[in-house]
Amino acid sequence: MVEHFDAIVVGAGPAGTAAALVMARAGLDVLQIERGETPGSKNVQGAILYADALERLVPDFREEAPLERHVVEQRVWLLDERSHTGAHYRSADFDEDRPNRYTILRAPFDRWFAAEARAAGAVLLTETTVTELVKDAAGKVVGVRTDREGENLFADVVILAEGVNGLVGQRAGLRKELDPRHVALAVKETVFLTDEVVQERFNLKGEHDGVVIEAMGDVSAGMVGTGFLYTNRESISIGVGCLISDFQATGTAPYALLDRFKSHPSVAPLLKGGEVKEYVAHLIPEGGYHAIPELVGEGWLVVGDAGQFVNPAHREGSNLAMTTGALAAETVIALHRQGTPCTKAALGSYLRALEQSFVMKDMKKYRGLAAMLHGNKHFLTTYPAALSRAMQTFLRVDGVDKRTKQRLMVQDFKAARGGWWHLMTDAVKLARAWR
Ligand SMILES: Cc1cc2nc3c(=O)[nH]c(=O)nc-3n(C[C@H](O)[C@H](O)[C@H](O)COP(=O)(O)OP(=O)(O)OC[C@H]3O[C@@H](n4cnc5c(N)ncnc54)[C@H](O)[C@@H]3O)c2cc1C
Repeated sequence: MVEHFDAIVVGAGPAGTAAALVMARAGLDVLQIERGETPGSKNVQGAILYADALERLVPDFREEAPLERHVVEQRVWLLDERSHTGAHYRSADFDEDRPNRYTILRAPFDRWFAAEARAAGAVLLTETTVTELVKDAAGKVVGVRTDREGENLFADVVILAEGVNGLVGQRAGLRKELDPRHVALAVKETVFLTDEVVQERFNLKGEHDGVVIEAMGDVSAGMVGTGFLYTNRESISIGVGCLISDFQATGTAPYALLDRFKSHPSVAPLLKGGEVKEYVAHLIPEGGYHAIPELVGEGWLVVGDAGQFVNPAHREGSNLAMTTGALAAETVIALHRQGTPCTKAALGSYLRALEQSFVMKDMKKYRGLAAMLHGNKHFLTTYPAALSRAMQTFLRVDGVDKRTKQRLMVQDFKAARGGWWHLMTDAVKLARAWR
């Protein structure tokens, strides 16, 4: 017998599971297909989970989801080789009963989230890779083929939530190959420490509070990229990610970059005595708004990382994945209820919903950022180093009067960037990319 579903979802990351959950709750017959042994077994994230997107889908998630710590303090560090200049924000407001951000480990989290979709009625097929889309004579997508033997699986619509690689969409000619300037390669380690050590090192008052650090500057060794260090219950997640085009151009080995970050004088004491138990690598789509591929077609939609929905400036991805997954699901539900076929025109309402959401507004806001950083590496090299020298001059008490120190700091910035003109044009470029 030919199996037919209302919808097939390819992938059980946050985007696919959000889509499957919303559709299953609305009573649709949903098949979700995941190549991993379990959802999350192939997935990598820092990882900060943003409560808002998940709370809209599972209001009481705090009671059941496998969460590590809630974030009470955010640090942003600009590194040079031996120092960091930092901004910290800690607030007791983040310690309320409905915290806004959590650290998570993706393997248990994805497993739990997918179980929510299953409980709502979605059928999950694991250890199964979708190899290609099945099209009818008119070119409309009507199902998928997998690496399991047997017949094709059919559905009114296929939601591609296959993550950044997007091979199924690529093979079907729905999207182009990834451009190395639009994708970062991130490497991450999990360093195990006891709960007490994590609390002590990060000045935390309990096992549930956490700190996250985002690092820029020397961490990326002149390439476009960032580093991160997040506290989990009994471990620290530490990683770096840079554009693939920069890794290719410089010949830098990603693991060497991570080792360098781990041995930075500001970082090493935080990891001291820890045991590395996990080393993983994964891609992050960072091309921004201009890299978004076609998102709907005859019988198909794209959600999450497969649609390049990541906001690198704020390190948001999982929330965009959940939100786009839910919006795609709502589109499919509405068409299903009207009895309208999932044509490209009908699925266009997903695009309109995206335009109205924070997702597309944020993607548009930072549309120039990736190209600006790629074209001007001074923001990641010259400025963090100059800022560090300025802080040294400012803070050292050495008999030099303060007005002279001020003049030296300004002269150093000017010399580092080759004059006022460059300083001013950089400021304008930064303001434009951020507006
Ligand atoms: C190092 C790192 C740090 C990050 N940090 C953060 C962070 O702190 N906060 C944040 O919000 N975001 C972060 N992100 C981004 C975030 O992880 C992604 O935006 C998010 O996971 C996207 O979800 P997704 O469901 O679209 O894709 P994915 O999570 O990649 O899930 C795709 C799923 O599809 C499956 N799949 C792929 N192809 C097939 C196929 N052919 N057949 C069947 N199954 C298939 C995969 O196995 C996978 O389970 C980070 C990413 C990385 C790499």
